[in-house]
Amino acid sequence: MSNNKKMGLTARIVVGMAAGILVGFLFKAILSGQDERELVFFGLSIPLKALFVDGVFHVGGEIFIASLKMLVVPLVFVSLVCGTCSLSDTSSLGRLGGKTIGLYLITTAVAISLAMTAALLIGPGKGVDMQSAARFDVSEAPSLAQVFINIFPSNPIASMAQGNMLQIIVFAVLFGLAMALSGKPGERLAAVFTDLSDVIMKLVTILMNLAPYGVFFLMAKLFTTLGFETIASLAKYFGVVLTVLIFHGLVSYSVILKLLTGLNPLIFLRKMRDAALFGFSTSSSNATMPVTMETVTKKLGVKNSVASFTVPLGATINMDGTAIMQGVATIFIAQVFLVDLTMGDYLMVILTATLASIGTAGVPGVGLIMLAMVLQQVGLPVEGIALIIGVDRLLDMTRTAVNVTGDAMVSCIVGKSEQQFDQAVFDDANAGVKDESVDFHHLR
Ligand code: ASP
Repeated sequence: MSNNKKMGLTARIVVGMAAGILVGFLFKAILSGQDERELVFFGLSIPLKALFVDGVFHVGGEIFIASLKMLVVPLVFVSLVCGTCSLSDTSSLGRLGGKTIGLYLITTAVAISLAMTAALLIGPGKGVDMQSAARFDVSEAPSLAQVFINIFPSNPIASMAQGNMLQIIVFAVLFGLAMALSGKPGERLAAVFTDLSDVIMKLVTILMNLAPYGVFFLMAKLFTTLGFETIASLAKYFGVVLTVLIFHGLVSYSVILKLLTGLNPLIFLRKMRDAALFGFSTSSSNATMPVTMETVTKKLGVKNSVASFTVPLGATINMDGTAIMQGVATIFIAQVFLVDLTMGDYLMVILTATLASIGTAGVPGVGLIMLAMVLQQVGLPVEGIALIIGVDRLLDMTRTAVNVTGDAMVSCIVGKSEQQFDQAVFDDANAGVKDESVDFHHLR
C-alpha cells in the first residue's frame, strides 16, 4: 500500500500546509528583513529570497492556482449545460433559481447582521489611532446598475476568455434550455456534454492529489512575507472578524442546515474539510470551485442538476465571509473616525453589503474593494480601508473558507428541497473518498 493510500487527502493537505507555514516562518527568521541574505554552501552562495521565496515557492504556488483556475470555465459551462438540459421541466429552473438566489441573499444578510452586532458590542475601533493607516489607493467600485447589466453576455466567447462567471452561467443555462427543447439533436449533444463533464471531473481529482504540494508552496511564500506587526495594533478588529467568521461557519450553518433539511451538520462539516482548506489556502472561491463541485456532488450527495447551478452561482455571488468582514470593518471605521451611524445607516450597510457580495468576484482581496461601495453609501471615508489592509490577508483566507462552506450548504438545502439529493451518499462517510486517489497504472 502506498503512503498516499494510508494517509487521507485532508491529512496530506494539512501536513503540506503546516510544513509550508513552518518553512515560511523559518525563512522569515533567517532573512529577517534582509532580502539580499545569502547562504554559503560548499563555497556556493545561494540567494535565499530570489531562489526560494520568489523562485520555487512563488512558481509552485502560482502553477497550482493557475491549474485550478484552468478548470473553472470548462467545468462551469459543461456541467451547467448538463444540469439545465437534464431538468425535468423548464419551470423548475425558475424555482431553482429563485430558491438559490433567495437563500444566498438571506444567509449573507444573516452573516452581516451577526457581524455588525458583534462589532457594536465589542467596539473594535474605539481608541485606535488614525495615523496607523497604510496607503490605500481607492479604485472605483462598480455601480449597482452596472453590476446587473454585466450579468448578460454580448459575446459568450469573450465572457469565457475573461472568466466572467455570471455571464457564463446565463449563457450555459440558455444553451442547456435550448438543448432540452431541441429533441434528438439536443439529446445527442447532451451525451457528449455528459462525457465531457465526467472527464473534467477526473481532471479535478488528479489536481486535488497535487494539492498538498501546491498548498505547501502557497503557505511557504505567504508566511515568509506576511507581517504580523499590524495584527497586534488591530487585534480587536482581527479578533472580532475571525470570531464571527468561525461562529458563522460552524454554528449558523449547522443550525440553518438542521432546521431546513434535518441533515446532520457534523457530517456536513466533516465532508467540507477539503474544500474549506482549499478556500483557505487559495483565498479564492473561484479557484476552489472545482473542489467545491466535487465535494457537493460526490460527498454530500447533491445531484448535478442542482449543484451545477448552485455552486458556480454561489462562488460568484454568495460571500457570507466577505460580508462579515465588511460589516465589522464598517463599524470599525465609523468608530475610528468618530462617525455616529444611525439605525437607517445600519440597514443601508446590510442592504449594500448583501448586494455588493453579488458583484464581488471570488478572487483574493476583492472584498476590500467592494467595501468602498458600502462605505460610500453611508458617507464614511473610503480611506479607512487603509487601516485594515495590513491584516486582510489572513482574514481573506478564513472568509473564503466560510464563503465556500456557505455555497455548499445552500446547495444541500436546494438539492434536498428539489428532491435532487442522494441521502445514501451524504450518510456514507467514504463517499467520494475512493475517487480522490487516481490510479495511473493502466496508463503504463
Ligand atoms: N477572497 C474572497 C473569495 O474568493 C473574496 C473576498 O472576500 O475578497 O471568496
